[in-house]
Amino acid sequence: MGDNAINRRQFLKWTGSAALVLALPPGGLHASGPAEVPVPPSLMLHSRHRWRLEPMLAALCREGFKGITYADLERALLGQAGLPARPVLITIDDLCPARGSPSFAYFAAMKSLLVEYGFAATFSVVTRPDVPHDDAVWDQLAAWTQDGIRLETHTAYHSNLDNPALTDRDLEAEIRGSAALIRERTGCDVRALVLPYGNGCNARTGAIDPRIEAACQQAGLRFVVGITGGRAPLPVDIGPDDVLYVGRVGPGISDDAHGALHELAHWGASGGRRAGRTAG
Ligand SMILES: [Zn+2]
Repeated sequence: MGDNAINRRQFLKWTGSAALVLALPPGGLHASGPAEVPVPPSLMLHSRHRWRLEPMLAALCREGFKGITYADLERALLGQAGLPARPVLITIDDLCPARGSPSFAYFAAMKSLLVEYGFAATFSVVTRPDVPHDDAVWDQLAAWTQDGIRLETHTAYHSNLDNPALTDRDLEAEIRGSAALIRERTGCDVRALVLPYGNGCNARTGAIDPRIEAACQQAGLRFVVGITGGRAPLPVDIGPDDVLYVGRVGPGISDDAHGALHELAHWGASGGRRAGRTAG
């Protein structure tokens, strides 16, 4: 090949950056951009997927996926940034900073793999303010945010938010209290409530329980993340207090890289069913 020849990788790189420039006119996306943004395919994982994360990341890389976070999605909705051509939102649930938590090493290993593969991703934190915390864990989580990792709240006590016995005060502790603690301990600007068990919204309509929505507004959160539904494109003309519901999917029946790719490929059509052996 001569000096003027470009290979396929260079061509894709060039067209990718050209598309991004075209998508960002002066004044942001909204002046001439799309009226809505598709919900990126969103993968829900837990610590038990630690053995399967590396093949998943390798498969996602091979397919051209790029990891994004809820903060990235929010910036896209606000017209402040574009999204990559094939975005994927990876969330890993149930990290807890309680002292002696046996699973933290598993989450840390998964974080290392994400960084190794260059994937931005999200850990959903259950803050458990009622038990002693491990300051070293909080310090590590704060450091992770420098590596493209974001932390979102998975409530204070991993409660079923559909429980009608929860008072407004309970909801405030679960949502605003947990988000505030993560912000205080890590400096991460928490943007999302990841619903335990996916409960807290109408599975059929995707409507957020009004009390949870109000608690999220008070907490300054933009997204409520469930499992079912939440695949319809999001409007870009959002108000400052609007809270948006988005769904996720587990890595399929096989619960591995093959299942994850299959579910992400069918994201738009996968609608309302639950996937995976445990949820949320
Ligand atoms: Zn959970």
